[in-house]
Amino acid sequence: MKHKNIFPITRFAPSPTGYLHLGHVAAALFARQKATSEGHFLLRLEDIDLQRCRPEFCSAIEEDLQWLGFTWKKPVWKQSERISEYRQTLDTLSARGLTYRCFCSRSDIAREIADSAHAPHQSPDGGHVYPGTCRHLSSREITQKLAEGRPWVTRLNMAAALSDITSPLTWREDDLTIVPCLPESFGDIVLARRDIAASYHLCVTHDDAKQGVTCVTRGDDLRAATAVHRLLQTVMSWPEPTYAFHPLLRDEHGRRLAKRDGAQSIRQMRACGLSSSDILLQAKEAMDKAVGPS
Ligand code: GLU
Repeated sequence: MKHKNIFPITRFAPSPTGYLHLGHVAAALFARQKATSEGHFLLRLEDIDLQRCRPEFCSAIEEDLQWLGFTWKKPVWKQSERISEYRQTLDTLSARGLTYRCFCSRSDIAREIADSAHAPHQSPDGGHVYPGTCRHLSSREITQKLAEGRPWVTRLNMAAALSDITSPLTWREDDLTIVPCLPESFGDIVLARRDIAASYHLCVTHDDAKQGVTCVTRGDDLRAATAVHRLLQTVMSWPEPTYAFHPLLRDEHGRRLAKRDGAQSIRQMRACGLSSSDILLQAKEAMDKAVGPS
């Protein structure tokens, strides 16, 4: 489905698991630049990881970005406050027979894979493809597991979702490249986790659609996931955004900038006396270097 928005809408969508570092600023600049002076730039806080996200990081992210001179269209959407919205999408997919309850624990999955005569399938996100153990549970088996109080996740039935669409899936990059999508390589992905009835794939596509995002910008590490997102968008008849990917900034040892590896936070840079324009320039130069000569 085509977008109705005439002007670009982009978003910076960090997960508030720590303070912002230079890589985040570079990503935010990349998204803001794609919004152009005519469009809108949004900030969205993707805080569904209840173990790792913290409210103080949410406020620090907004404060740092404001100090750097970013402005965005309000309100800021916080995914943890939108679970009932995601539930509606889950219900729609379930009513169409495209999801199932999976009661497998991590160790059940590992055992199933180890016992299988076939080599495990690697998913592009680094894990193993779910072997499908719970895909065809009978309603009696499901009722029994629920009665036993077994926790469950909701998975997408990938084969059913693929058979629900009529034309081959692609994504479009904003330089007009058309990329074929192979979401089946991810297998039956989790749409709603045990601890929170949501997941990255569900929330990011849901919110991009509901916020009218016309150009999704993201790091190269999430490029492959775009295939799954295009499938969800097509199945849900959501508009198709374009995509623009940027490299991830790396330290002098070639490691991705990450708080846990000691990447300096914007807070620390501010405390050292750097101005907002110094930091923006550093982020821009680091991104230009990561992109390399065009
Ligand atoms: N929240 C994701 C992250 O922090 C990015 C969202 C996306 O563009 O997919 O890595």
